[in-house]
Amino acid sequence: MSAETHFDKVALIGLGLIGSSIARALRQVPVAGHVVAADRSEAVVARVRELGIADEVTTDLGAAVEGADLIIACVPVGAMGAVAEVIGPRLKPGAIVSDVGSTKGSIVAQMAPHMPAGVQLIPAHPVAGTEHSGPDSGFPELFHGRWCIITPTEGADAAAVAKVEAFWQALGSKTEVMAPDHHDLVLAITSHVPHLIAYNIVGTASDLEQVTESEVIKFSAGGFRDFTRIAASDPTMWRDVFLHNKEAVLEVLGRFTEDLIALQRNIRWGQGDQLFDLFTRTRAIRRSIIDQRQDTADPDFGRGRK
Ligand code: NAP
Repeated sequence: MSAETHFDKVALIGLGLIGSSIARALRQVPVAGHVVAADRSEAVVARVRELGIADEVTTDLGAAVEGADLIIACVPVGAMGAVAEVIGPRLKPGAIVSDVGSTKGSIVAQMAPHMPAGVQLIPAHPVAGTEHSGPDSGFPELFHGRWCIITPTEGADAAAVAKVEAFWQALGSKTEVMAPDHHDLVLAITSHVPHLIAYNIVGTASDLEQVTESEVIKFSAGGFRDFTRIAASDPTMWRDVFLHNKEAVLEVLGRFTEDLIALQRNIRWGQGDQLFDLFTRTRAIRRSIIDQRQDTADPDFGRGRK
C-alpha cells in the first residue's frame, strides 16, 4: 500500500449502515492507524463498542475529530451542517473532511462555511447501500466493486482529492471525480427519482380501495415486491435526500411525468409499436448494467426459488 493511502487517525461520525461498514472495512485493509467512531446516539455508541469495530467510540463528536487526518461524516444529509459546526473548531490544520451523503451540492453549502483555513473539504458519495440502517446492518464488503463519486469544489487541493480516491479504492471501490451539481443530476435519475417512484407506487397500492392489502401482498411477485424493497429504505435519510436535491429531482420528475403521459396515450390509442420500441430499449439498459457487474443476471434478482 502506498504512503498516500495511509491515515494515522480516521474519525467516522455517524455509525449506521455506511459508517459501520467503513469501520468494518478498515479492520480488513491497513489504511488507518487508529479509528475513532462517534455518534450522537448512546445506544449506537454502546452497540459499536460491543461490535468492536473501532479503536475508540464516543458520543463526543468534537473530541473524536481532534488530531484526525481524515474525518468522514456518515450522518443523514440534513445533519451535515450541524456536524460541521460542532467539529469545525476542533479540526487540525491539514485535515481532510469528507462525507458519504447522497446529495452533494447541499453538503458543500452546509459544511464549507464551518471549515477552518488549512482544512480541505472533499465530499464523496459511495454509490452502495441497502434498505437497512443502523450499526448492525453494515458489512465490510459493501463497497466492493461499487462506484464512489468524489465531488471536490473548484480550487480543491489535488493531493487531498487523490488521497480520498485512494482511500475508497483501498475499500474496494471504483472512483470517479465529478462536479457536485452534475453528481446531483446524475443521482436524481439513477437513484432519487427511482426511490420516489417506489415510495409512490407502494403508497398507491396501500390506498387502493378495490384491492385488499392481503391481495397486494399475496400477489406481490408480479413486480410489486421489487418496489417494496426500495420503498423500505430509511425514512429520515430519504426525506433529507429529497429536501436537499430539490432542483435536480424536480427537473427529472418533470421529464418523467411527460414520458409517463406519452405512455398513457400509447396505451389508450393501442400504439403497441411505441410500447414495444421502448421496452426493447430499456431491456438493453438492463443488459449493460449486468455486463458492467452492477447487478446479477440471476432470474428474480438472485433470490432463488424459495
Ligand atoms: P443510518 O444507518 O440511519 O445511520 C445514520 C447514523 O447517523 C445514525 O446512527 C444516526 O443516529 C446518526 N446521526 C444522525 N444525526 C446525527 C448527528 N447530528 N450527529 C451525529 N450522529 C448523527 O444511515 P446510513 O444509511 O448509514 O446513511 C448515512 C449517510 O450515507 C446519509 O447521508 C446517506 O445519504 C448516505 N448514503 C446512504 C446509502 C444507503 O443506501 N443507506 C448509500 C450511500 C450513501 P440516530 O439514530 O440517533 O439518528
